[in-house]
Amino acid sequence: MALLLLVAALLTMLVWLAGVYEASQVQSRLERDTAQAVGDLQAALGRNVQGLQALQYNDPTPSSWAIEAAGLLREHRELVRVEWRDNALQLRAFADTPFRPPVFERIGRDHAQSEVALACANARRISGPAYASSNFVPMMDGLGMEVMELCLPLETGGKIVGYLVASYALPEVLEGLIGRQNMRSHEISFTEGDGTRLAVRGLGHRGNRVFTAQQLMDLPGTTLVFRVDSWRAAPDLFPNVLTALVTAMSIALVSVLALLAKDMRRRLKAEHDLADALAFRKAMEDSLVTGMRARDLQGRITYVNPAFCQMVGFSAAELLGHGMPQPYWPPELVQEYQRTQVIRQAGTLPPREGFESLFMRKDGSRFPVLVIEAPLIDAQGVHSGWMSALIDISEQRRVEELSRTSQERLQASARLATLGEMASLLSHELNQPLAAISGYAAGSINLLRRWPDGAPQHGADLATAMQRIAEQAERAGKVIRSVHGFVRRRDQVREAVTPQALLDDILPLVNLQARQLSVRVQTEVEPDLSPVLCDRTMVEQVLLNLTRNAMQAMDFAHIVERLLLLRVRRAKGGDRKKWIEFAVADLGEGIAPEVRQQLFNPFFTTKVEGMGLGLSLCRTVVEQHGGALAFEPNLPRGTIFIFTLPADSVA
Ligand code: ADP
Repeated sequence: MALLLLVAALLTMLVWLAGVYEASQVQSRLERDTAQAVGDLQAALGRNVQGLQALQYNDPTPSSWAIEAAGLLREHRELVRVEWRDNALQLRAFADTPFRPPVFERIGRDHAQSEVALACANARRISGPAYASSNFVPMMDGLGMEVMELCLPLETGGKIVGYLVASYALPEVLEGLIGRQNMRSHEISFTEGDGTRLAVRGLGHRGNRVFTAQQLMDLPGTTLVFRVDSWRAAPDLFPNVLTALVTAMSIALVSVLALLAKDMRRRLKAEHDLADALAFRKAMEDSLVTGMRARDLQGRITYVNPAFCQMVGFSAAELLGHGMPQPYWPPELVQEYQRTQVIRQAGTLPPREGFESLFMRKDGSRFPVLVIEAPLIDAQGVHSGWMSALIDISEQRRVEELSRTSQERLQASARLATLGEMASLLSHELNQPLAAISGYAAGSINLLRRWPDGAPQHGADLATAMQRIAEQAERAGKVIRSVHGFVRRRDQVREAVTPQALLDDILPLVNLQARQLSVRVQTEVEPDLSPVLCDRTMVEQVLLNLTRNAMQAMDFAHIVERLLLLRVRRAKGGDRKKWIEFAVADLGEGIAPEVRQQLFNPFFTTKVEGMGLGLSLCRTVVEQHGGALAFEPNLPRGTIFIFTLPADSVA
């Protein structure tokens, strides 16, 4: 504000000073013109005196003189009357101006006698032309004018013989001047000492500023005051170019100031906004749980956020400017990291999904991180480094591990549940071989009791009985082994198993249930199949679950044909060599549309004593192997569950 006021005051003063300077210029020019005009007037009066003297040339007679004088008057408008008077001032001849009625007609020539006498007395005294002070002569038309008398002594042989008296009309004297270029726009006048105007010519009042110049005009015998008044055009804000220039520059300066102020305000606002944005960004960075790290092209750290510092346990000061190897690299991996770093920097864009790495905290503990890198492009579009986002995935790893073990436990308990279901079947199944064994054993004992008399002829029977016992024991052992192998919880191991081997393993268990439910089991295995790479126990459980579901779906009175088909072949379409397809088909009820949606949901079941875990586990297992589990209607009735497993590529 103060600056603005100062500038405004300065500019006002500048304009005012320019105005004053301009006024003084006008004034001095006016004074110069006035002085020049007075000089010109005096010269003209002098020339007139010579013209008058020329009238006496060649001793004129009064009549010839009057003709000459009339000629002179025609040439000089300012002279209204010329008289030739004798020594005693008596009129000898005269001539009046042809331009107006005789001036002295109204009041008579005698009226001016005293002025004439005074002038001539002066003329006599100085032996040269002398003027008398002007006097007002009223005229016939009601107006009047100031008339000034000039007296010129006529001398012959040093003796004054008469006088020439000329009457000047002062307004006409001014009129002669008015035609001049530099007097055209002014008002010019003769005044008395007190300012009374004697004669005025020129433009009237115009404008509001008056410039006045006065100059004394000394004539022999009298003094006139010549005055010029100049009016400036009104109202004049820009008196001249200088002032206009100064004003224009002032306006320009003020506008520049205004623009500057506006710009300043805009800049301030932008700065403020920027500070806000920075504060916002800072708060955002500080609140991030993702670690951020920027590195230049040489691998030196240029920026880390608090989350990163917290993650690795180093302070920002320890990390900033640190080059390779970084303090958070595990010493045993430094070489490998340096190698990959070089490769990454030489290569193109890093993958968007990031890569996993192992970092070391300050206390030496290791933890896995997910690193997502992006090139840092500065404002000029130059690639100046790399920006990385780092996520500590140790917690995620722990949760994954936890879910894997609980999944395994769940699978184990599902196996146990299946086992519980089978316990009654098992007892029934084991009953047969055991009863047979005990039967054969009893028979054999009987035979042996009758030893030694009948020994030779019963030797073959005994051998057969023993053979049967061994067979039945083998059968019972097989059942027990298959159950044991199934229930035992093992670590997940992938091994190459032929599909036939998988079926052979589960068939004893399947047959157990099939016999109870009166289901016929049929297997179809494509010849020359390559082994599948799988976790044997898990896949067997999938097959068991599917066959059990299939058999249960046919456990209705109205279903007469109870056939369970187990089919293994190469997968159709795609890369046939790579996938083996297992299908379990039944001729049961089929799956209702409302059931279809939730089939794979854990704990979904339509059975009274069902757990609803079977299919969801099956799908998890198949997907863990990279395959897929699907089902479709088995036309004309029933359902087919189909899953794929990878073939062992080595085979
Ligand atoms: P559970 O056998 O304990 O009920 P599952 O997850 O194995 O659990 O099966 C879920 C449901 O899917 C079953 O209750 C049954 O309704 C349906 N289902 C499974 N397999 C078949 C099939 N082969 N035919 C008809 N329905 C089936």
